[in-house]
Order: sequence, then structure tokens, then C-alpha cells
Amino acid sequence: MSNAELMTAGKPSLLGQRTCASLVIIVVALARPNLFGLLWSMETQLTWYGQSAFKIVTPGGKVLLVDPWLTNPVFENAKDEIAGLNHVDLVLVTHGHSDHVGNAVEIGKRTRAKLVATFDLSAAIVSALGYPSELADVETTGHMGGTLTLLRGDIAVTFVPAWHGSGVSKEETAPAVYAGTPSGLIIALRHGPTIYHTGDTDLFSDMALVSRFHKIDIMLVCIGDHFTMGPARAAEAVKLVNPREVIPMHYGTFPVLTGTPEAFERELKKRKIKAKLRGMKVGETITLPKS
Ligand SMILES: [Zn+2]
Repeated sequence: MSNAELMTAGKPSLLGQRTCASLVIIVVALARPNLFGLLWSMETQLTWYGQSAFKIVTPGGKVLLVDPWLTNPVFENAKDEIAGLNHVDLVLVTHGHSDHVGNAVEIGKRTRAKLVATFDLSAAIVSALGYPSELADVETTGHMGGTLTLLRGDIAVTFVPAWHGSGVSKEETAPAVYAGTPSGLIIALRHGPTIYHTGDTDLFSDMALVSRFHKIDIMLVCIGDHFTMGPARAAEAVKLVNPREVIPMHYGTFPVLTGTPEAFERELKKRKIKAKLRGMKVGETITLPKS
């Protein structure tokens, strides 16, 4: 045996190593599209916690909370639900009132979720309520008409107007801190539906502009009356936005929020609106089809 043959005896040959490496690359290359295909085939999950609070789990497994007031009077499992929220990517808030900011700070501090809000609202939630400032930077802060592309393009959020108020209060009796103008949110999910959360608002004619730029699959619309539009005006809003499905929110939490899904259904029918009405129970999770 030559010296060279002695040195390589008992070791896998270089050719063998290269063949193995090539095989691994081929297997990974074949597996990855299947893996991504599997992820993309997952459906979006939507959970309603009452009032305007929703959890959205995207087809890619990202977790979003919108107006996360879980400790509201109608959701009984708030404590357990909050304790179980270990992974949250984004907390989105439409305006500064306590029934929308809700448990955002507590959840943000624990999960390190980034805060998505307009500039003034984000600043108010950080300065007055203590949301960690490093989780509310320019990446997730925008303003009306602007679109933020987030989570490596898995989600795009556009801020649109809402006719309401906005102010952040640390306590019920404390004076409100300026929090800019309220917003609605258009949340477009990659490989999933585009969702329009109206925030708290009255009907306004510029809602028609939403459908000019976005094909809305799901419209989450306030119907409770008193502080927002009621069933009739909400039905007119649906007519302007023309979504595929509509889910009512912001009703039944307090006695003054008198709008009901039944009254809303009547108003939709009166106007021959094609959008499918999909009522949700508090705490219910539904799957949303792809766009
Ligand atoms: Zn509200």
C-alpha cells in the first residue's frame, strides 16, 4: 500500500462525501416546496373575544391581536386566555379608548409583540401606559393612507380613517392624553384573506375608497350604536365597502350598545346587500377561506 492509500484507508472517500452532500441538498430542495405548500394551505383562524377584540392566526402561523380588550364584561375566559398567549407577533390598536387598548400593554410586555398603531396613538400608549418603546418603533408605526409591510411580507397593514375620538387614559378619572385621530385597519394576509377592521366609527362616504384600493374579503364592522354607527348605518357602510363576508362587532358589551346582529341582518336584507353575514359567539374561533 502506498502512503497515500494508507492515509485514506478506513475514511469515507471524498467522492462519497460529495455524493452524500449532493443527496442532502436534493432532498432539502424537494422537501422545502412541500413544506411551504403545507404552510400556505393552512387556513386563517379568527377568534372573537367580544367588543372589537380579535385574534388572527395567519396561514404562516403568525399571531396578531387587534384591539385586545380581553378582560371585557362578556368574555369569561380572559385570564386563562391571556396566560395562554405565549407567542404574539403583533398587537394592533385602532384608537386610544380603554375598550380597545385593553390588555395590550400587559400582553406586549410579556410576549414582546410589536405595537402597530398610528404615530400619535403609539406614542401615547408608550408614554402614558408603558408599552415598551423598543417594541413600538418606526417599522410598525404609520399614519392614514400608509401601508406597513410586516413580518417579512406575511402581512400588510393600511391605516384608514374612522370617525370617532381617540385619547389614552391611564385611569378612568385621569385626563386623557392626546392620541391623534382614530383609525380603521386593512390587514392583508399573504395566502389569506384581506380583513377590514373598521375600528369605532360612524358611516362616512369615503369608506367607498377602501374598495377602490383593496378587495375586502372580511369586514369586521361595529354595529352597537350609541358610541358608533348602529345597524342601519353599518349596513350602508357594508354597501360602500362591498366585502365578501361581514362580521358584526362592538355590540352587547354594555346595555347602551343596543345594536343587534338580528337588526343588522334586517338592514342588510333591506338593501339587498350580497355580503354573507357571519355572526360570531364571544370566544369562538372560525376559519377564514383564502382570498
Ligand atoms: Zn369602543
